[in-house]
Amino acid sequence: MAINIMIVEDDEGLSRGVALSLARPEYRFFECATLAQARQAFAQHAISLVLLDVGLPDGSGLTLCRELRAASDVPILFLTANDAEYDEVAGFAAGGDDYITKPFRLTALRARVENALRRAHGGGAALYRFGDVWLDFGRLQFSKGGRPLALSPSEQRLLRLLLDRRGETVTRDALRGAAWDGGAFVDDNTLTAAMRRLRAKIGDDPKNPRFLRTVYGEGYCFYG
Ligand code: CA
Repeated sequence: MAINIMIVEDDEGLSRGVALSLARPEYRFFECATLAQARQAFAQHAISLVLLDVGLPDGSGLTLCRELRAASDVPILFLTANDAEYDEVAGFAAGGDDYITKPFRLTALRARVENALRRAHGGGAALYRFGDVWLDFGRLQFSKGGRPLALSPSEQRLLRLLLDRRGETVTRDALRGAAWDGGAFVDDNTLTAAMRRLRAKIGDDPKNPRFLRTVYGEGYCFYG
């Protein structure tokens, strides 16, 4: 089933860039440059997520947000351009909507979009992507570069925890506990060895990892 994502943004280059960087086979994008186009697209298609600029040629994104909120629980992620917009949106978004400040890193945007979709769809979406790796924890299907990727149950749990907390340091204790049922009987070297194997499986460079980074004395952090 397609997941319809509406991008309401009058900066055409940014809108394209966002769509390209989020692209996944199951996503369909509706790019709208005005509130009028967005209202029409929203009325005609079952939209699963809205990325919403604030300053638009025919009005404010906040107006559209209010209208959509009155009719739907669709997740709305604001794209704010400056501090003034940020303040306005931050107050407004307290009701559950999310926001990200321009210029944003596209990897950060992707994580926010995936989180919002997961939250909205009750965790069933359990799909993750980084580099050429795809992980579907719902169906237990994993691939790298289009080929099946074999992950043991403890490796799956380690990756899932790190991915759910992308950008944060996850402690060694938390990782041991999640991967090995409490982790009390698992020594630290087992975790180190498991992380080394995981890096090799996802194709990360052990000397200069792009995704799975060691935070010395603390744990690991997933980037990407
Ligand atoms: Ca704008």
